[in-house]
This record gives sequence, C-alpha cells and structure tokens, in this order.
Amino acid sequence: RTIGSATSVAVIGLGRFGSALALELMANGTEVLGIDDREDAVQALNGRLTGVVAGDATQPELIEQLGLADFDRVVVAIGTDVTASILCTSQLLRVGVRQVWAKAVDERHAVILDQLGVTHVVRPEADMGRRVAHMVRGAVEDFIEIEPGYAAVRLEVPASLAAVPLRELNLQQQHGVGIGAVKREGAWVLANAETRFEAGDTMLVHGRTPKVEAFAVAMA
Ligand code: ADP
Repeated sequence: RTIGSATSVAVIGLGRFGSALALELMANGTEVLGIDDREDAVQALNGRLTGVVAGDATQPELIEQLGLADFDRVVVAIGTDVTASILCTSQLLRVGVRQVWAKAVDERHAVILDQLGVTHVVRPEADMGRRVAHMVRGAVEDFIEIEPGYAAVRLEVPASLAAVPLRELNLQQQHGVGIGAVKREGAWVLANAETRFEAGDTMLVHGRTPKVEAFAVAMA
C-alpha cells in the first residue's frame, strides 16, 4: 500500500518542473508520491519525497497498483512527451481522480488537455514568459496576474508616498489601485487607511493590470 489518498498529492514526471513542484509541496507539509519512468529521475528524489516509484504512468496497471484513483489531487508533469501526457491524463480521469493538474508544453497540448476535462491546465513557460514581460516593462519586483486582467505586484515605496496616511494618498481614486500590505523591517503587515509608508518599505499593489502597470511606471 502506498501513501495515501485525500491529503497527499501524486506527481507524475519528475523532470525540472515536476521535481521543483514535488519538493515545494514537501517543504510545506504535504505528502508526495513521485512517479517517473526514468530510474535516474526517481533516484534523484529518493528519500526527499514521501515515496517514489519508477514506472510508466501511461500503463493502467501501474495506476491501479499505486491506487491513484484514491488521490484527490494528481499532477501530470510530463511535458515533452505529449502522447504520454495525454494517455496518462485520460487514465487518471477515467479512474475518477477528482483534481488533475496537467502541464502543457504548447497551446495545442493545452487545448487537448482541456477537452479531456482536466481541471487545471498549467503552462509554466508561457506563464513565466508573460510574467517576466510585465516585470521588465513595469519596473516591478514581482508580478502575478491573478487572472487575465487583474494583477498584484510588489513595488518599492517612493519617497513621494512616505509619511502620509493611505486615506489621504487616495491611491484608489488617483490611480485605480489598492494597497494590500506593506513590508517593513522584513515583515509583511496588512495595510489599512491609517497606514503610513516609510522610506525603504515595499508595498503590495493590486488592481486591473493596466492600472497597476501605469502606477508602477509613475512611481519609478
Ligand atoms: P521538464 O521540462 O519539467 O524537465 P520533461 O517533459 O522534460 O519536463 O520531463 C518530464 C518527466 O516525465 C521526465 O523525467 C520523464 O522521464 C517523465 N516521463 C515521461 N514519460 C513518462 C511516463 N510515461 N511515465 C512516467 N514518467 C514519464
């Protein structure tokens, strides 16, 4: 019997993406079963995940044997071999895995995964490329688009915003952005109407993507 079920996550494909994902889940207290058909990929994570298995995840026998149907969440991190990704994903959906997360290498792959009924299709390279574009253009330290059209960024507070309470800065009316939190002396605290920025602070700004970008440029 393998590790079990509802609270744990199975990660299929322990390449660069899959292994980073698996290790991050482990670091935050989630049990992870890692599967890869390459012995060296499995060996590299042996002892660092709750369990590792070498095998071909397109085979129904392996999926059955590992009890993957009992997992609530399975990530298919096979990318380059699109056929393997599709075969594996369709098996997982067939046995009733509730949440299948699958990595797509390109748009066509993403469309097929979507048509199969995958709950979450991720496009790491396309997503990261877009994200870095926003960081480069907007002079922001970090950029996350919550969904197309709405973003959150991390920005250094300019001197022009220091010392005045947020209520008076009126950034929502002036720039169409909200301030979620401020980082001071290494710790993030939630912002409110009385918050006053200090030189050296970092702020978490959110709003519609063009508003956030225009604000970042105005503050640079
Ligand atoms: P990355 O860019 O994240 O490294 P790759 O697509 O190159 O992604 O690697 C994904 C991993 O999936 C590889 O380690 C590969 O051995 C593994 N893999 C590919 N096909 C299968 C399969 N049928 N069963 C299990 N693992 C597989």
